[in-house]
This record gives sequence, C-alpha cells and structure tokens, in this order.
Amino acid sequence: AAAETAAAKPGILGRLLGQSVETSRRVLDDAMLERLEEVLIEADMGVDCALRVTANIAEGRMGKRVSTAELKEALATEIARIMTPVARPLPLYPSRPQVVLVVGVNGSGKTTTIGKLASQFKAAGKSVVIAAGDTFRAAAVEQLQVWGQRAGVPVLTAPEGSDPASLAFDAMTKAQADGADLLMIDTAGRLQNRADLMEELSKIVRVIRKKDPDAPHNTILVLDATTGQNAINQVEIFRKLADVSGLVMTKLDGTAKGGILVALADKFGLPIHAIGVGEQIDDLAPFDPEDFARALVG
Ligand code: GDP
Repeated sequence: AAAETAAAKPGILGRLLGQSVETSRRVLDDAMLERLEEVLIEADMGVDCALRVTANIAEGRMGKRVSTAELKEALATEIARIMTPVARPLPLYPSRPQVVLVVGVNGSGKTTTIGKLASQFKAAGKSVVIAAGDTFRAAAVEQLQVWGQRAGVPVLTAPEGSDPASLAFDAMTKAQADGADLLMIDTAGRLQNRADLMEELSKIVRVIRKKDPDAPHNTILVLDATTGQNAINQVEIFRKLADVSGLVMTKLDGTAKGGILVALADKFGLPIHAIGVGEQIDDLAPFDPEDFARALVG
C-alpha cells in the first residue's frame, strides 16, 4: 500500500523531466545535473546527500545521451543503496517483557503507532501490554485506551498528572508477572521544557532498569514525514533526550515528501522499523527500500 500511495504522487524525476520526454534521450550536462540537484534538495533529501547522489549519477554518464528511464533507474539505485542498510524491522529479544519506549513530539503519531504495533504483535501471537506514560495528556491516555481495545491489548493508566516513572514501574511489574512478551511505554512529547522531559524519560529508564538492567530494549522515535526538514531537528533533539535506537516514519500516505527519509538515513543511519501509511490499525508497513526508491523516483 505504501508504494502504491506514494507512486500515485509525481515522483522526483517525473517532476524534473516531465512525462513528455519519457522516451527521448538527452545529453547529461551541467545544467541538467544542477536541475537534478535542485529537485532532490526540494524533495527534502538534504544538500549533502543530494550533491553526492547527483555526483554518483554523473559518473560515467557526463556528456552522454541518457534516456529518462536510465536516469530514473540510476536514481532509484542510488536511493535504494542509501536506504537498504536502515530498513530493519523491530528486533525481537527473548526478554519477558521486551520493553519498547516510544518517544516523539505530540502529533507525530506515537499513540497510533503503538496501537498498530500492538495489533501486529498480537496477531503474531505475542502478549502485549501498553503503558500510557503521557500522564499529563488525558486525551492521549483515552486515545491509547481506544487503540488498546481495537488491538485487544491491556492499557495501563495512572491518574492524570501522576509520575510516569511510577506507572512504568508498575507496568513493568505487571508485564513480568504476566510473562508478557512486549511492554510498550508511551511517553510525553512536550518539547517546551526539554530539561523536564529529559528528566522524565531518564527516570522512566532508571526505574524499569531496576526490574531488568537491559530495558528498554528499544527506544523508538516516531517522526511525522510531512514535517520535512523538521524531522532532522527532532532526531537531533531526541537523541540528546533518550538513547534512540530506531525510527518509525508516519504519514507517508499523504505526502510526496518521502525524500526526508533519505536525508535521515544518510545523516543518522538509524534503523527505520516501519512506516505509517494511514490512520487505520493495519496501516503500518515494513519499510521496503526498493519499493520506496521506485515510488519516490516515480
Ligand atoms: P501522538 O500525539 O504522537 O500520539 O499522535 P497521534 O497518534 O495521536 O496521531 C496524530 C494524528 O496523526 C492523528 O490524527 C492520527 O490519526 C494521524 N496519524 C498517525 N499516523 C498516521 C499515518 O501513518 N498516516 C496518516 N494519514 N495519519 C496518521
């Protein structure tokens, strides 16, 4: 579904060269390379990455006649090469429970992603517990309860405004007692006071480590792909706040801005565990670098 939706948008090179020149061959010259650079930057791939990709494409092709199809193929190959190392599903550990801390700014899709992941793991026969760790946002807790119901997974909550670390500790205790496979902990996404958020996140980590020194096994940063370059800042910020081990990119259904994933992969090399491709429970897809590259190029 991801590839189909993204492919419905005009791809990068489609926009560059237009449909009319589909079968024509033209000489790859400086002007054309510059245009290609511009389009890649415009597509959020980042300046360094765009320059490098363009240079690789130019190699052995400068001054030669190339067809649109060849150019698209070359670009898709370059993009797939950058994306392949980061395409990694959430690694599973034998720990009971495996603890997954989910971080990200409000609105990025944390709640939705937790619901979707819970549903997938449940369907795969895993027992899952969710902790509604954003205790200051009543709406987030309610929303998570709705997702828990849909996925058939218990959601542990605490009174509004109570200590998220205390909830995380209780959830850890329950998940261990139940022999649950997976504990997913939602967290607050208020960046207004970063010192507070950092303290909150590190306190959660401290208390769950009392129960399992290896926890959390994953710290997933959820990023909204439609925010473009902003996603870069968010990775930089959250890497200072928590030990981010991987990404989930949401809202790839509604955007032609997939280029930001290339910039992120190029800059940080963090695994992309999954992509959000809609608002429904099944709208979480594995990240497929080849499909993604083809859809982006168009
Ligand atoms: P949170 O504040 O980070 O917990 O974000 P939510 O999970 O509440 O999501 C914010 C909004 O984004 C909601 O309206 C979701 O339905 C929507 N959303 C989340 N993931 C996706 C996605 O992959 N595609 C689309 N189209 N919408 C999404």
